[in-house]
Amino acid sequence: MSIKSLIRTIPDYPKKGIMFRDITTLFSDADGLRDVIDGFAAEYQDKNIDVIAGIEARGFVIGPAVAVALGIGFVTVRKKGKLPAETISVEYDLEYGSDVIEIHKDSIKPGQRVLIMDDLIATGGTALGAIDLVEKAGGDVAGCAFIIDLPDLGGAQKIRDRGVDEFHLVEFE
Ligand code: AMP
Repeated sequence: MSIKSLIRTIPDYPKKGIMFRDITTLFSDADGLRDVIDGFAAEYQDKNIDVIAGIEARGFVIGPAVAVALGIGFVTVRKKGKLPAETISVEYDLEYGSDVIEIHKDSIKPGQRVLIMDDLIATGGTALGAIDLVEKAGGDVAGCAFIIDLPDLGGAQKIRDRGVDEFHLVEFE
């Protein structure tokens, strides 16, 4: 089965009007999981990525597997208050309100080429926050990669407008 057909859609979750794209059904399928990791590894194998930064929580599922495939390391971008050592924080916009994400101050070395990964890009608020965070930490954002893009919500375009390379495996209207 294709990656797209392995993604389950739950209407009206977590609230009415949202079509929730559930990737747990994709991850539990051996061929689907391998196709996802192979798809990212093929895209980035020649792009001189130094480290992958995965966004909590679903970026933690794909990021380390792709990092192993590329022979590089993985760092975590976490919600506020979860990281034990000294952190850098960024506040970013959500559809309603804002949130804070953090990274360990010493997790990225100056000038390292960082690939940011998450499962899905919608409005782009989370990914733009992660770009700010990686740049604040001294990294050079080499790209942002997602399994799913929701193009109608414009987030991927915002990433490209920012001058950052954007890549995704599938789209849902
Ligand atoms: P955004 O900041 O608007 O780009 O939202 C992206 C984040 O919210 C990602 O971490 C996604 O996991 C989650 N998300 C947003 N919309 C959906 C959706 N329709 N289905 C599943 N996850 C979503």
